[in-house]
Amino acid sequence: MRVYFDAIFKAHETPRGHPENPGRLDAALKGVLDAGAEPRRPGPREDVLDAVRRAHDADYINYVEGLCGGSDLIEIDGDTWASPGTCSAALTAVSAMLEALDSREGAYILARPPGHHAGFRGRALTAPTQGFCIFNTAAIGALYLGEGVAVVDIDVHHGNGTQEILYDKDLLYISTHQDPATLYPGTGFPHEVGRGRGEGYNVNIPMPPGAGDDAFREAFESVIMPILRQYGPRAVIVSLGWDAHRDDPLADMGLTLNGYKYAIKSLAALQVPLVLLLEGGYNYDVLRDGSRMAVELLTKGDADTGEEPSESDYAALARLRRTLGELRRYHGKYWRL
Ligand SMILES: [Zn+2]
Repeated sequence: MRVYFDAIFKAHETPRGHPENPGRLDAALKGVLDAGAEPRRPGPREDVLDAVRRAHDADYINYVEGLCGGSDLIEIDGDTWASPGTCSAALTAVSAMLEALDSREGAYILARPPGHHAGFRGRALTAPTQGFCIFNTAAIGALYLGEGVAVVDIDVHHGNGTQEILYDKDLLYISTHQDPATLYPGTGFPHEVGRGRGEGYNVNIPMPPGAGDDAFREAFESVIMPILRQYGPRAVIVSLGWDAHRDDPLADMGLTLNGYKYAIKSLAALQVPLVLLLEGGYNYDVLRDGSRMAVELLTKGDADTGEEPSESDYAALARLRRTLGELRRYHGKYWRL
């Protein structure tokens, strides 16, 4: 598998104390190096802006490019910032995605800024902010590869930008996330199934706060993997946020690295290229240990998580099961569930 990293990803700066900062990449990089990976830099590409234009409005792209022209940090909204290095970082993340997809090999892309909250014109759906995101690298990759691609988003936040961009496309988008009634960006309910050609291709699985590895596993076994197997992807892009871990400071889910390991292992069993893209994750130890685990798992076939699996409390598991029942009702006409 390929691991992508470029120092330019650290040139996207945010104000002091911001949870999404260059130090996150140092932690993740330490993890992949511990696993024996040799990170590579993506090569330059002439088609990167063309790929971005398929997912984002031209005015939005111009607006972002304008922000990077200055010499200072510029606030886009209460959460999201641009600095002089932001455009180079965001475009290089897209280059890494396109290169990984072209290679038809598995990859882990350690990039910033993250992307899954960035919609067609920036702020997506009803979200109050862009949630630290600039260009939606996962959605750009999905539109670049086209037919047969699947995006699986296991960041703790709903990938509202990815949903918005892919909503009327027959490209599969599956997201697990903490219940949107309890967490930014406030979208990602089971009834949001896609529109037009995209009907049935948008699958949202909200998880109750406190949901542990057992709940996550149940969601994968009963809904996510059956749909993926029926869809038969030729590549899977994973929006990999480490913030569903119980130690993450920004959210309230209860996963350990065992839940992540189960998810990555299940997706790898599809035996198609798996492109992991770093999205969120704000606990440095989890970023490091999770990144090490992911690379070891995909290169050596197994990995020690160093953690005991977590169990959901009774109420959380009962709520998840009601949600899975709801999903069967909404998606039962598109998929055998
Ligand atoms: Zn997140």
